[in-house]
Amino acid sequence: AAKDAGRNGYHFHSQEMNCKAHERMELETSLRRALEREEFFLEFQPIIRASGDCLVGAEVLVRWQHPVKGRVMPGTFIPAAENSGLILPLGEWVMRKTCEKISEWRKNGLPPVKLSVNVSGRQFEQRNFAAMVRDILEETGADGASLQLELTETSLMKDAEATARALHSLRELNLRIVVDDFGTGYSSLGYLKNYPIDHIKIDGSFVRDICDNPDDRSIVEAIIAMADKLNLNVVAEGVETREQRDLLRKLGYQEMQGAFFYRSLPEEAFVSLLRNPRFSTPLRGFDFLA
Ligand code: C2E
Ligand code: MG
Ligand code: MG
Ligand code: MG
Repeated sequence: AAKDAGRNGYHFHSQEMNCKAHERMELETSLRRALEREEFFLEFQPIIRASGDCLVGAEVLVRWQHPVKGRVMPGTFIPAAENSGLILPLGEWVMRKTCEKISEWRKNGLPPVKLSVNVSGRQFEQRNFAAMVRDILEETGADGASLQLELTETSLMKDAEATARALHSLRELNLRIVVDDFGTGYSSLGYLKNYPIDHIKIDGSFVRDICDNPDDRSIVEAIIAMADKLNLNVVAEGVETREQRDLLRKLGYQEMQGAFFYRSLPEEAFVSLLRNPRFSTPLRGFDFLA
């Protein structure tokens, strides 16, 4: 009987596994097909300079136009892409598209813009990651100074020597490095002084309650005090209200992004923003457009 129960238990467990594994396989298959058919596209969330509210660039955010399900957000497919390794070709696709846009917009006479690309830990771990970025810059003719890479704390914590080497190779390409979702990963801060990092981007979860929650406010204050000493710029994401913007600006945050300014925009809308003569001057009253 014990053997039967064991077998049944095993059987039940394996059916559940089969179901999960099946779902995962289906998602992977459709992701692979989506890559072949170029069902992905990019959106651009404007990044604003805090002093004077002018536009400095955008974070590049990938979306999937699924033939049946419609638009799928990255939260639902990036984890699957990471597990299956498909994040490597997808991430490369995002990098190439971004650099093509940098180059194309420059040729069309648009003002220089900084595009900030999310890089998954799986990509950054690749030994040839920096070489891949260099090749794409060369092939597309994009200026490295217009490119910024967003890495998470977790992907910087893996192998200190390899990380330092990769970051130095990337910095030779003239691009900038941002630590994304700052504060949500490991709390070891030593890497901030050891690595060539330009910005830290404080996670939206700390920004959400800064006006009401004294603890969150203390955290954002402490982060900017530390960043000042280490000569790092601080970016705040998820800024949704005027009160949050005013407080972050008062505290000295250099750049911000969030729904208060703009949500992520399709390419055409972002390009018309770039064409706006107010691009290089303070965008007074522009928050009414958000
Ligand atoms: P993230 O890098 O922290 O990106 C910020 C997310 O916050 C974006 O969600 C953005 O649309 C959202 N957001 C911006 N402003 C606000 C706001 O005011 N309020 C709130 N509640 N949310 C705001 P999205 O586009 O769904 O992206 C989610 C995550 O997916 C990103 O988090 C990033 O980790 C990942 N991701 C997006 N694109 C890529 C990509 O091309 N490659 C990789 N590896 N990951 C990506
Ligand atoms: Mg990001
Ligand atoms: Mg972020
Ligand atoms: Mg975040």
